[in-house]
Amino acid sequence: MSLHLKLTILHRLIISYLVIIILVIISGSYTILKLSGLNRIMTTMVTDSAMIRLSGENLNIMYAFAAAEEKFLISRDPDYRRQYEESQAIFYSKLLEMKRNAHSGEQQSLVSGIMILYDQAMDISRQISISKGQGRNNLTDILGHRTKIMDAIDKKLSELSRISARDRDDKLRLSKVISDQITNTITITVIISIILVVFLSLFNTKSISAPIKLLREKTKQIAAGDFGLPLRITSPPEMKELSDAFDVMCNRLQELDQMKLDFISHLSHELRTPLTVIQEASSMLRDGRFSVNPEKEQELFIIVEEECRRLIHSVNRILDLSRMEAGMADFSFQALSIYPIVERNILRFSPIAGRKNIEMVLDLPEDLPVVSMDMEKIGEVVENLLGNALKFTPEGGRIVVSGRYHPGDENLEVSVSDNGPGIPAEGLKEVFEKFKRVEDKKGAVRGTGLGLAIAKHIIDAHGGRIWVKSRLGEGSTFFFSLPSSS
Ligand code: ADP
Repeated sequence: MSLHLKLTILHRLIISYLVIIILVIISGSYTILKLSGLNRIMTTMVTDSAMIRLSGENLNIMYAFAAAEEKFLISRDPDYRRQYEESQAIFYSKLLEMKRNAHSGEQQSLVSGIMILYDQAMDISRQISISKGQGRNNLTDILGHRTKIMDAIDKKLSELSRISARDRDDKLRLSKVISDQITNTITITVIISIILVVFLSLFNTKSISAPIKLLREKTKQIAAGDFGLPLRITSPPEMKELSDAFDVMCNRLQELDQMKLDFISHLSHELRTPLTVIQEASSMLRDGRFSVNPEKEQELFIIVEEECRRLIHSVNRILDLSRMEAGMADFSFQALSIYPIVERNILRFSPIAGRKNIEMVLDLPEDLPVVSMDMEKIGEVVENLLGNALKFTPEGGRIVVSGRYHPGDENLEVSVSDNGPGIPAEGLKEVFEKFKRVEDKKGAVRGTGLGLAIAKHIIDAHGGRIWVKSRLGEGSTFFFSLPSSS
């Protein structure tokens, strides 16, 4: 069986929600990862911008302090000296800031280079400040050297600004790509989640509503009297169980329906046959057709009497069963021996057995212990079992009534066996159900199918058990047991 068929409704719902939750977790983690990368890029972009700004500022400061220095050299005015010392201090503090911000190898090596050049420029400044007594040529050399250093610093600052601008632009492009990826991921996740929610909800709803619809249709069909084919819903398992139970109920209803029809047909046959015989016989008697033949007339009276008795017997059985089913049957229990009850019934049936040349054997010890029973009702059971045995045993057959006491279980067991046609295996369980008649091929044996159902009610009321063993073509043995302590 496929996994889909085995999944219960609860499991289906859990799996559906899990699929959606896992999808959201995966896309959420991916988005968070990308966002933190974007955040890192943004931070370095800010430092790149700072580098560009600082490079420009320091370039201006550098030329400002160079100009102030030259003015000082010419005028020896201490104001110019303070000015260029202040500018140098600002230049240096911005250089340190640049060192802190430098995050790429290129930036770091450029900043280090500038720092070295700056140190050299400072050395020259020191030389200038103490160059009072030096010659003009020497001063020109120092200034020429300083100009070269300044040019080198200028180049490096411009390079630093260019590199930082390039890095910032690269990062800007990368952050655009990342933000596009984030947007796409979120959009795709939302679309897939919506599709999944719709699809899974439809699938789950359908897997529940489709079998419910089938059940509803089937119920309507049955209400209209059409049993049709079994539902056989295979999934989900809860629905399968419900449908299996429903199919069992349908089968039972169908069986009961069929039993009702069978019963009506058997009963009408059972009642119509004697009534027709009585009608025929009485019209013959009224016509006086046999008034000249008193012997024949007597025979007709006997037939009418027998058929009346049969009718009363059938109607009584139906009434007995209804009373028992309604729990209205009265039982009067007494401690009795089973022997006289069996013996009396054997005597009653011996004329019929004699006519059919059937041997009736009583294999029952007279001294069986007494058990609590309703004499009349147990008599009915024995009468029914013997009557059936006689009805089904062919001419020249043999019926044996046996009995024994089981001290271990403390119960009395009586059996009636015959060598009649037997009962097919599939009919063994059904014979004790009301209206159930195991069809014989000839269909000649009459009966309402109530005798064994009544017998079962009686034995159940005694706390006993009734059962049958039979093989088709070899005969049947009906047993009943009565507890000695009931
Ligand atoms: P009925 O009153 O119509 O005989 P029962 O309830 O006594 O009905 O019996 C039910 C069915 O059990 C009978 O129709 C018959 O098919 C089967 N049956 C009962 N006793 C015997 C038997 N001794 N041999 C074969 N079939 C039997």
